[in-house]
Amino acid sequence: MGPSDVLKRYFGYDAFRPRQREVIDAIVKGEDVMAIMPTGAGKSICFQIPALLFPHGTIIISPLISLMKDQVETLTEQGIPASFVNSTIPYEESIERLRNLYRGKIKLLYMAPEKLEPSYFTQCLAQVPLSMIVIDEAHCVSQWGHDFRPSYRKIKDFIDSLPRRPVVTAFTATATPLVEADMKESLGLEKARVFRTGLDRPNLSFRVIQGAAKEDFILRYVKSHKKESGIIYCATRKAVDTVYDLLRRRGINAGRYHAGMEDEDRRQAQEDFSFDNVTVMVATNAFGMGIDKSNVRYVIHYQMPKSLEAYYQEAGRAGRDGAKSECILLYSGQDAGIQRYLIEQGNQDEDQRKMDYHRLNAMVDYCQTTSCLRNFILAYFGEKVTEPCGHCGNCESGKGRVDITDMAVLVFKTIRSLHERFGASLIADVLHGSHSRAIVERKLEDTPTYGKLSFEKASHIKSALNNFIADGYLRREGEPYAVLKLTDKARQVLAGREKVYGLAFGAESVMADAAVEK
Ligand code: ADP
Ligand code: ZN
Repeated sequence: MGPSDVLKRYFGYDAFRPRQREVIDAIVKGEDVMAIMPTGAGKSICFQIPALLFPHGTIIISPLISLMKDQVETLTEQGIPASFVNSTIPYEESIERLRNLYRGKIKLLYMAPEKLEPSYFTQCLAQVPLSMIVIDEAHCVSQWGHDFRPSYRKIKDFIDSLPRRPVVTAFTATATPLVEADMKESLGLEKARVFRTGLDRPNLSFRVIQGAAKEDFILRYVKSHKKESGIIYCATRKAVDTVYDLLRRRGINAGRYHAGMEDEDRRQAQEDFSFDNVTVMVATNAFGMGIDKSNVRYVIHYQMPKSLEAYYQEAGRAGRDGAKSECILLYSGQDAGIQRYLIEQGNQDEDQRKMDYHRLNAMVDYCQTTSCLRNFILAYFGEKVTEPCGHCGNCESGKGRVDITDMAVLVFKTIRSLHERFGASLIADVLHGSHSRAIVERKLEDTPTYGKLSFEKASHIKSALNNFIADGYLRREGEPYAVLKLTDKARQVLAGREKVYGLAFGAESVMADAAVEK
């Protein structure tokens, strides 16, 4: 039986998706493989089919203890002999499952990474002839990744301790070039064949809506998309309850899901959504991993998540069937504050914290950029970008973009005459012509451009500054109190060699309405 027969017989599909076949062929030939493919690309089949074709067993290391059982049940229903071991399985039973792997009664054994800490269990495991080790969600091994799990660091030692090295394969949906290099080294995959399918999802259109009344927006959006499935992601359980109650009170058939609910309620909620008993799911990020609903037509973020990695993964749950779908992020300035607070409260070391801030800043830049949103994401993940996509919120509102060179020059001149020593608030205050103590004490009223934008609110000027950062004219330096520096791009503008196009003041709140009416 070849890969195509297995695909048809066990999974019921007629043809492979792009790259699946190549990945499978490489593995079956015995090559190590590292595959970076977006959510929905069909990674599971890429290792499940070789596992069925290999003579011996395969172990799959996966961080998602809560999902293992469901995954294995699904496989079993498809006639694929699989099982799992993790901390919820009693010791005796886990050894029994190893025996089944040894005897060939099961072909795939899912396993939590903690199980690889040296123990009697790993001694037994070392005796089992293995054809392959699969590392799922492999980005968890990297400290530069967004989901670091220290236990993933033990995987390499375990593999090295085996009497015979099986084929080793690693899969993930998101990896920046830095994470990719780290994964290779930390998993001993220097010689692996790397498959990177483009992360682009052409059927998704992205939109950021800033400064909207979020609850109104959601209510109007959900009502005008009544027949479609959607997910609304919130940053906290409390926000989930608020939005859920709001929708239910208005007679909308919504479900909810977060980690604080009873197992049974969560299972029920998931099932209701899968079978279209509810059309909208209001959830924290606990909802989604392993959810296999292909016709989700929109994903709305009620609050900004902590990183673009998290955002792209969550938003990417829309449109897995390839049909047009929308990913909308409702952004307000407070969102960044919440995430900053969470970073401060965390107990990571200094390096981690720096990385977290770095990722958060990129997320904020995404919310504030006036250029193509899709290209912004792809560039972040190290992909080459070409044309603007033409159908994200920013591309579409491109008509509303105007020549703002005059205003930009005023801003850049101000920063230059202040010797690039101040942060956004103070610069906005100078341009606005404020008489605040900070201004008076530093005698900043003498700045040549003082008060030149007095007809604009200071908050609007500040958001314009953020746009300049996102578009690469300015950069922040220092955390958490950053000063603004000019980039070469801004110097070109000051030298009169470049023009600046962007949103006119106040344009964003108008866009929030347009998005619903569209
Ligand atoms: P990933 O892990 O990459 O996010 P999955 O492995 O969960 O993606 O697959 C996503 C969906 O695509 C699943 O419903 C899966 O059954 C389906 N799928 C995978 N390969 C194919 C294929 N060749 N033809 C049709 N559907 C497929
Ligand atoms: Zn675009």
